[in-house]
Amino acid sequence: MSDCLFCKIVKGEIPCSLVYQDDAVMAFKDINPLAPTHLLVIPKQHLASALDINAHNSAVIAHMFEVIPQIAKEAGIAEKGFRIVTNIGKDGGQIVQHLHFHILGGRHLEPSLG
Ligand code: AMP
Ligand code: ZN
Repeated sequence: MSDCLFCKIVKGEIPCSLVYQDDAVMAFKDINPLAPTHLLVIPKQHLASALDINAHNSAVIAHMFEVIPQIAKEAGIAEKGFRIVTNIGKDGGQIVQHLHFHILGGRHLEPSLG
């Protein structure tokens, strides 16, 4: 989508601090980190949120979860643990309308999902 922030990052129109990419997936540092390690993992194709996942596109989601272990290991957070979060819609606190998984780690995260 032409007016989507993360599509612009995919196209290289907006810079990012890239930590991983392949044909289908990108991972980059969150611009406003909430933890010592705060990465965003996105599909290169535009999906507005997890609500857009279906039988036709779920292979890219599986692929994202295949690369997340590698990303977490390279970020040095795999051993101690981390959190994967995706916000959906208004009540879910979603600000950027392009599916992304937050990878949060590098400190102890409270059990609360508040
Ligand atoms: P969400 O509330 O789940 O939609 O989160 C969107 C996330 O994108 C927030 O954590 C922002 O800090 C992050 N963000 C917004 N713009 C950028 C950008 N240009 N580069 C990296 N992260 C960004
Ligand atoms: Zn997009």
